[in-house]
Amino acid sequence: MTSQRTRDRLINRLREQGIANERVLEVMRQTPRHIFIDEALSHRAYEDTALPIGFNQTISQPFIVARMTETLLADGPLGKVLEVGTGSGYQTSILAPLVSELFSVERIRPLQEKARERLKLLGLKNVHLKHTDGGMGWAVKAPFDGILAACAPEEVPEELKQQLAIGGRLIIPVGGSDNQELNLVIRLSEDEFSTEVLECVKFVPLLSGTVR
Ligand code: SAH
Repeated sequence: MTSQRTRDRLINRLREQGIANERVLEVMRQTPRHIFIDEALSHRAYEDTALPIGFNQTISQPFIVARMTETLLADGPLGKVLEVGTGSGYQTSILAPLVSELFSVERIRPLQEKARERLKLLGLKNVHLKHTDGGMGWAVKAPFDGILAACAPEEVPEELKQQLAIGGRLIIPVGGSDNQELNLVIRLSEDEFSTEVLECVKFVPLLSGTVR
């Protein structure tokens, strides 16, 4: 159920659904998604679906991970990137090999700790994790060439926009529990931003505060 053939089938499916960035597809082909979920669910690891990871949270659907990663990288290679919502660490492990430095924040400590172990197991050394409320971004590490949020606020947080470099790209689901849209915000200049709505999505909400 976790064999390379099963994984290759998922990659073929992503390609059929329009994912075209071969580097993204190759990282996803090589990444063992089953280590990011409980053993009881690992037989479903290569289905194209979100799955529970505890604390009312989910590991993201592979198609959405691919789509967001591809969109973030669409304008060329990225240096510093911020991820809001580490969760299981799956999206983190797909993004890390494709950027120079990845900063990832998570508000639920036990999820963050598990993610840290998995990222270590995979030997990913350019990832910096922090237990914090990521709605505020990670100001001391800004500006970021890219920001990817895996949880949905009602509106794009101003702090995240302000932590983008000029030309930087922010990909973020926005909206309530049953009407979210994936937004791509690009910082055109110091005070100009463009926003493009990509598609309807379903993410867990961005919540404030932290859980120990
Ligand atoms: N891409 C992750 C998805 C995790 S679900 C994966 O593949 O596993 C989204 C995560 O965002 C959850 O773990 C949730 O705790 C976290 N989250 C929600 N609001 C947050 C906030 N304000 N700051 C940091 N993390 C947040």
